[in-house]
Amino acid sequence: MANFLIVDDSRTSRRILKGILENAGHTVIGEATNGQEGYDRYVELQPDVVTMDITMPVLDGIGGLKKIKEAYPESKVVMVTAAGQKNKMVEAVQCGADEFIPKPFDAEQLVATLSKVIGA
Ligand SMILES: [Mg+2]
Repeated sequence: MANFLIVDDSRTSRRILKGILENAGHTVIGEATNGQEGYDRYVELQPDVVTMDITMPVLDGIGGLKKIKEAYPESKVVMVTAAGQKNKMVEAVQCGADEFIPKPFDAEQLVATLSKVIGA
């Protein structure tokens, strides 16, 4: 079981993801709505895993990923992807993304992917 920070500009996505994580026994210790806020909350909360949406205002998920990985190379950051984001996925891998979970969320697949990241 792990502590999660959810970074997503969509309130609905955050709510759904939080429900799936909590049903699986995880704890959501914080939420943020863009890459900059995600980084700030990471520094403050030091979660085990971050879920990072890609398309967000102010600073997108790639920017948020870069900031977190530069300051905390040991961090675990999982990118939340939508259809048609192949180029962004390549960029995210280059920036150190640990895994990808696709939107719309599939609870079973998502929990399995996260278990792999946590090493559980
Ligand atoms: Mg978004």
